[in-house]
Amino acid sequence: MPILRLAIATPLRRLFDYLPPAGLDGDSAASLAPGNRVLAPFGSRRVCGVLVEVSDSSEVPEGKLKPALEVLDSAPLVSAPVLELCHWAAEYYRHPVGEVLTAAFPTGLRKGKTSANDTETVWRLSARGKGLPEGALKSAPRQAELLDALQRESALTWDSLKARGHNSATRRALLDKGLIEQTQRPLTPAPPAWREGPTLSPEQAAAVDAVDGSGFAAHLLHGVTGSGKTEVYLKLVEQALAAGRQALLLVPEIGLTPQLAERLSQRFDAEIAALHSGLADGAREAAWEAARSGRAHIVIGTRSAVFASLARPGLIVVDEEHDASFKQQDGFRYSARDLAVKRAQLENVPVVLGSATPSLETLQNAHAGRYRHLRLTARIGDARLPGVDIVDVRRLPLKGGLSENLLSAVAAELDAGNQALLFLNRRGYAPTLQCHDCGFIADCRHCDARLTLHRAAGELRCHHCGWREPLPQRCPSCGSRALNARGVGTEQAESVLNERFAEHSIYRVDRDSMQKRGAMAALMNKVNSGEPCILLGTQMLTKGHHFPGVTLVGLLDTDASLFSADFRGPERMGQLITQVAGRAGRAERPGRVMLQTHYPDHPLLRTLLERGYDDYAEQLLAERQQMALPPFGQLLMLRAEAASLDSAEQFLAGLRQATAPGDAQLIGPLPAPMQRRGGRFRAQLLGLAPTRASLQRLAVQLVHAAEESPAGKRLRWSLDIDPLES
Ligand code: ADP
Ligand code: ZN
Ligand code: ZN
Repeated sequence: MPILRLAIATPLRRLFDYLPPAGLDGDSAASLAPGNRVLAPFGSRRVCGVLVEVSDSSEVPEGKLKPALEVLDSAPLVSAPVLELCHWAAEYYRHPVGEVLTAAFPTGLRKGKTSANDTETVWRLSARGKGLPEGALKSAPRQAELLDALQRESALTWDSLKARGHNSATRRALLDKGLIEQTQRPLTPAPPAWREGPTLSPEQAAAVDAVDGSGFAAHLLHGVTGSGKTEVYLKLVEQALAAGRQALLLVPEIGLTPQLAERLSQRFDAEIAALHSGLADGAREAAWEAARSGRAHIVIGTRSAVFASLARPGLIVVDEEHDASFKQQDGFRYSARDLAVKRAQLENVPVVLGSATPSLETLQNAHAGRYRHLRLTARIGDARLPGVDIVDVRRLPLKGGLSENLLSAVAAELDAGNQALLFLNRRGYAPTLQCHDCGFIADCRHCDARLTLHRAAGELRCHHCGWREPLPQRCPSCGSRALNARGVGTEQAESVLNERFAEHSIYRVDRDSMQKRGAMAALMNKVNSGEPCILLGTQMLTKGHHFPGVTLVGLLDTDASLFSADFRGPERMGQLITQVAGRAGRAERPGRVMLQTHYPDHPLLRTLLERGYDDYAEQLLAERQQMALPPFGQLLMLRAEAASLDSAEQFLAGLRQATAPGDAQLIGPLPAPMQRRGGRFRAQLLGLAPTRASLQRLAVQLVHAAEESPAGKRLRWSLDIDPLES
């Protein structure tokens, strides 16, 4: 009897064996294709698993095997390369394969819903109809005509038959004679068409030429903001479509999908499917299905779209590849950027990673010759790269975090009919509430973190665990009313700007103000209508958005990033400042950038501002190499969360003892940077290895030890390969 080996979403790192469901004979079971979903009993539940292989034997004795309940699909729902990608990812990230595979499905399909098949009902000749001798239906000319039509076209929808003048009585008669039958066939999209794009600059043309659509190769498209990377993507998409293939474009944020979709639909008359977590389940399934069936020519999406099956893949693009959003930070911790490269290899198609500020990993891959390094050095048209003016704010009075220098520069731009963008990466009114009389500070009772003051909402909120409490009227410690907001968040800067620039619109862009679906797109429309205004926001503002009217960018406070404890801090700082600065002067108007700091002479800042991101990144790479840190060394993090720090650390110490790291190195157990979060204590063990292979050996041992450890069942632990935070 063939055995169905299923991946099921459980934390167990194994497959589960079942007998074929009742009613499915051995031969049909043996020919089932991997990627089919199968309904099966699992404990007291029924679960939807994914068929990974059909085997002729099982380690489980035959008498103990249960039959599966039902095969849900008639054809695999996941393409073979995506199935392979899932297996590869499960190995690489040492994550249970069942959980990895379910990441490849939209929610509804994960639960066993029937797939919203992208098919249409058509009529065709039955075997008997095909064998009908010539002239057999002489006495029924209408029926003969319908048969004739199907003979010529092989299959037609009822609509097109009706349009040819056939009626349902004729159809009925032929059906009764068993001469025709109904079947499903995939919807065929109209062939895509496109408008001519602008003439590419020599650099853009060279980049397009370098990307050969005939097979796998990875490319870094490295160009400052406004240098025309997106135009290069569009040209490559056009080439993929012209070759009858599909293109997959990954972007870091939901907010960027409508913008890119808009630009694509201006250029292409084609089916564009958007895949991201902001969609309702139904829309997501439809988009996913359009990608899989091949009806969608272009698929854009965030992180998880890297698992979307494609019928005819031809190109994969990862825009803003340096962005940390490509890394999933909980559950199945994968890097969609890295998986995109693996996927391109499995599909044998080119992949393009684009950025103005490439990650050190990607730069190093380019230096080592693993990726082709394509550069766009000039901005398109007249748009010049802005210089950065440092505003030394030491001893300057600040209002809502804004110096008078910056405020008057904003005023001048508004008077000239321009727009200003102000960046402050802290939402809320103030990051700290402090009692002036006794020094009390409002902390989160569940985390080692301060509560943020949200004044409009009249609340204190924890940005780490979501805890909220009403704003106290008196100090909980001494009863004083002298409670002061310390530090500045976007809400406070907004109120200062509102006072000063009452006659202008001020748009605050942060997670609090942009909660509604479509809020970002609506805002972009308003801003890009061109009225003079101020955009004030957090990191949300810095990603890829194009604001042609912005001529002044102000960075209110990036000082904290100069002193990050994380070894990736300087890399992130350089990317952030460069990306924010890049929002200025993208169109014909020249831009200006002002950076407020208390540390105008900080060496990192000086290198970045005087020599630019590329040189800065090279310097950071040299430092990483010296310290054998990624991308030169390989890193993993095993984190434990428990009711006490002690038990988390003891568990990790046990793992450390149980492993022989070889040429790798284990650091810890150490308390996590934020020791207590959401009421749980966190500790971690870092592994640093000279090669991927030795990191993998270490990971295998650690996972094994963690699974064997009795303590491991009482606490939560997780493994992060290539962690972004450490
Ligand atoms: P990036 O993606 O690098 O930020 P874009 O592709 O968005 O850059 O290009 C910036 C601006 O320049 C856009 O308005 C775009 O339409 C325009 N542009 C890009 N390439 C060309 C070109 N070859 N000719 C004319 N305009 C171009
Ligand atoms: Zn007090
Ligand atoms: Zn908290």
